[in-house]
Amino acid sequence: MTTPFDASLDDSDSLHEECAVFGVYGTSDSAHLLTALGLHALQHRGQEATGMVAFDGENFKEMRGLGHVGENFDAGSEALAAMSGHAAIGHNRYSTTGQSELKNIQPFLTELAFGHFGLAHNGNLINAERLRSSLVASGALFQSTTDTEVIIHLIARSHRQTPEERIIEALMQIEGAYALVCLFDNKLIGVRDPYGIRPLVLGKLDDGYVLASESCGLDIVGAEFVRDVAPGEMIVIDEEGCHSSSPFAKQNSKFCIFEFVYFARPDSVFDGHGVYQARKAIGSELAKQKAISADVVVPVPDSGVPAALGYAEESGIPFELGIIRNHYVGRTFIQPTQAGRTQSVRMKHNANIAMLEGKSVILIDDSIVRGTTSRKIVSMVKEAGAKEVHMCIASPPTISPCFYGVDTPDKDKLIASYMSVEEIAAEIGADSLTFISHDGLYRAMGHAEGRDKDCPQFCDACFSGDYPIKTASAKFSTGTKS
Ligand code: SF4
Repeated sequence: MTTPFDASLDDSDSLHEECAVFGVYGTSDSAHLLTALGLHALQHRGQEATGMVAFDGENFKEMRGLGHVGENFDAGSEALAAMSGHAAIGHNRYSTTGQSELKNIQPFLTELAFGHFGLAHNGNLINAERLRSSLVASGALFQSTTDTEVIIHLIARSHRQTPEERIIEALMQIEGAYALVCLFDNKLIGVRDPYGIRPLVLGKLDDGYVLASESCGLDIVGAEFVRDVAPGEMIVIDEEGCHSSSPFAKQNSKFCIFEFVYFARPDSVFDGHGVYQARKAIGSELAKQKAISADVVVPVPDSGVPAALGYAEESGIPFELGIIRNHYVGRTFIQPTQAGRTQSVRMKHNANIAMLEGKSVILIDDSIVRGTTSRKIVSMVKEAGAKEVHMCIASPPTISPCFYGVDTPDKDKLIASYMSVEEIAAEIGADSLTFISHDGLYRAMGHAEGRDKDCPQFCDACFSGDYPIKTASAKFSTGTKS
């Protein structure tokens, strides 16, 4: 759902999730309030903007704004008080495009031949540019610069009878990753792409149902987790209940493994696997992979914490919070200059000297993207008096960009794409550097045999370069992210 790329802001040193979706149906007149809560729980998936569309049986109402959910949908908000409905959908947006315009904030609401239609999308359509050009050539007028709007135009042009059939026909033309929630006059629909790359879960709340990018979005509204929406599944929720179909050709599931490593909240569960437990298991695998003699295991907070706990448990080396995170600073990516970014790293993490001075430290982080943040952190730990810093990373080297809805720098900016592990260790100033192996990562995900090289059990393209959806347009797709 994004726009032409603004290179000046493409300097983040970590990967970022692109969006969250949420939908609720059949909950008296509180769907809009539940949606605000759900989006709040999913804030980590997108902080640039948020929006919702609600339906009260007669009217659709919409609201959207830049910034966090709490800034837009707080309890005293007049706009929120003016909303009502038994059905609603919502969206949190993350974007690096710099085009923070209201017109790009989802959910989109439009009027089609069969009535109102609201749409929220998490993912990235890799053939969106081609489809958009051909739609524009045939007279389509686009209101936004997002790839998501392509779906709306395809649905609008479909001659199929029902809204469901129109959505299916539109999605048959789409290549890429999507988890969608759609709102019609009296229907909520959730769809996942045939590979199930981006997550979507189903919950039950009283007489109604909830769809959310992660199960933590169900927990906050008190919904009972029912199950993951399956890859390629369409869920239709209306006054008669919840109906499932699988309209697309079956593919092997390729859920994004990085959801487990970094993106998802640790209290979320996908396909029966707790994210927290998976991260601890990765730490345990790291400890088994390479024995390091050290005094303390220290996480780079927050995402390195569960892996560090797993490492400490497996190795018997004490876990300590040697780095303290300040949660009240802006994100690194909003700093447009290298000097600004450097300062932000320092503002976000501070050394806890008492836990580091004179010690040999195993430092656990989730990933290394460009290497700039790692260099600052290692330097900070050494300045605090650490004797040695052994960096352990809870993901394999990131060597390729993501085309499926995650913001990554171009390949030539990914340090692991042009340096060996030893060279990266020297570059970031670490005494040693260990990345979890591909097989170790898969073992931590419950695949005792490791990674299936012929048919990997997840999408791991940013580590392997093995893209599950291969298309000639993929290499051009960084301009249209969702
Ligand atoms: S390329 Fe990486 S970040 Fe993107 S979907 Fe695949 S595993 Fe996830």
